[in-house]
Amino acid sequence: MGNRMDLETTVIEAIRKRFQEVFGENFKLNEPMARYTSARVGGPASMFVVAGNTTDLQKAIEMAFIQHISYMVIGGGSNILVSDRGIEGLVILNKAKEVHFRHTGLSVVCAVDSGMNLSSLARQCIAKGLGGLEWAVSVPGTVGGAVVGNSGAHGADMASNLLSATIWEPGGGLRIYSNEEMDYSYRDSILKREQKAEQSRRVILSAELELRPEATEVLMARADGFVARRKETQPSGASMGSMFKNPENYYAGYLIEAAGLKGFRVGGAKISEKHANFFVNDEQATSEDIRGLIAEAWNSVREHFGVELDLEVELVGEWDFDENDG
Ligand SMILES: Cc1cc2nc3c(=O)[nH]c(=O)nc-3n(C[C@H](O)[C@H](O)[C@H](O)COP(=O)(O)OP(=O)(O)OC[C@H]3O[C@@H](n4cnc5c(N)ncnc54)[C@H](O)[C@@H]3O)c2cc1C
Repeated sequence: MGNRMDLETTVIEAIRKRFQEVFGENFKLNEPMARYTSARVGGPASMFVVAGNTTDLQKAIEMAFIQHISYMVIGGGSNILVSDRGIEGLVILNKAKEVHFRHTGLSVVCAVDSGMNLSSLARQCIAKGLGGLEWAVSVPGTVGGAVVGNSGAHGADMASNLLSATIWEPGGGLRIYSNEEMDYSYRDSILKREQKAEQSRRVILSAELELRPEATEVLMARADGFVARRKETQPSGASMGSMFKNPENYYAGYLIEAAGLKGFRVGGAKISEKHANFFVNDEQATSEDIRGLIAEAWNSVREHFGVELDLEVELVGEWDFDENDG
């Protein structure tokens, strides 16, 4: 038994050393995830690497996959709730952000790395007189996160822009997925569904988005309208955006509000008074505080309305689950 433990420790040490050799100071041990999540919570990732381009991104995933280390790629960390205990395995922070534009006659194709910030890309497109991504001007996170989660706003979403995505498949290398192959629906895709399964995940390296020429002033006015509407309806402060998906025929925020939970607090986290589907870290919350709010909202909405809400945010890391939680 003792020998086996010693062997495991030696193997893990050797793997860590190899990552250190390849990625130098971009590789860290026990890196606190609160620094990389929009809710500003989350314990340490046992191994952490910053990938500055798609070559490093692919290298990091392949090394983890070959060594049987669990891995996950994060972009803006704006759609995940990382546990206080943290993540065992490798977290890869995606900073690959090259962008190219190609005219094809009527439309323009934007080829973009998955670590590009989505709202910066939307602003770049507007400045170039290219329409189609205005909905994304104030959606936090990266292109990769949005392609996985089919992020959207103001009646449009990634599915309406995406032509194709270059995806790394565990054990299979790179493959180009068409829009149809992503199997998109509301805040859902073939890759998003994989999150629930305990398996090695596919990773988006880059995407091609379709845009169309339009006057910059028109695009700017549309984007300004979207930003103003967001300011009016959504709280500022550290959050993960909408906690639950909207169930058919309802708004999750309305159901949580109608259950009497606006302003409800657990520890340092509260359900926003401005928008009840936003859970805000306003007093140095822990992830457990936020999970307490999730359980309260889920149970109350089921009790009052018989509706079982579905999380939009992904719970990541090591959690102790209670059977009575939602
Ligand atoms: C204030 C606020 C407002 C928001 N408003 C909106 C909104 O209007 N509409 C909306 O849809 N969302 C909204 N969100 C949620 C969030 O911005 C989106 O879901 C965003 O697209 C997530 O991108 P990310 O890079 O932060 O993903 P992360 O949170 O880093 O990751 C989310 C998931 O995607 C996976 N992932 C990330 N990158 C890759 C990749 N390259 N390959 C494979 N998997 C990957 C991760 O492993 C994880 O499972 C909001 C969030 C906040 C904080």
